Amino acid sequence: MSHPKNVISIERNAVASRLAEIPESFFELSYSKFDNEKRRLWFVESGLINWKEAACVGQDPSWWFPERGQNDILDLALSICSQCNIKTECLAFAICTGEDQGIWGGTTGRERRNNRRTILKRLRIKRAEA
Ligand code: SF4
Repeated sequence: MSHPKNVISIERNAVASRLAEIPESFFELSYSKFDNEKRRLWFVESGLINWKEAACVGQDPSWWFPERGQNDILDLALSICSQCNIKTECLAFAICTGEDQGIWGGTTGRERRNNRRTILKRLRIKRAEA
């Protein structure tokens, strides 16, 4: 199942000032596991994203990793993401660190894999508004 609207909705929910704190180099595509691990560490140490604000806190984490064909669960997770206050930051984290499995920032792994350059470009444009 495809949810193209989620990818397109980046601009509407973006928090430019938070995106601006992410190092510019993170908005370059990297296929290096080493780079992505360093980036992940940066996000953890920076405390930039307040995961306590996440709408998925307290929910069953498996909903964000549905099996093929579990469309009801997929839709449930996406609907929770759509109401999340840190949706854009969550998407930035996933896309900057090469996270290509599971639902992050209201996008599926497939959407991120297929639209990585487009999402990075849109996040970069948004951060420039800060
Ligand atoms: S956008 Fe990210 S933090 Fe928010 S509910 Fe979805 S997966 Fe959780």
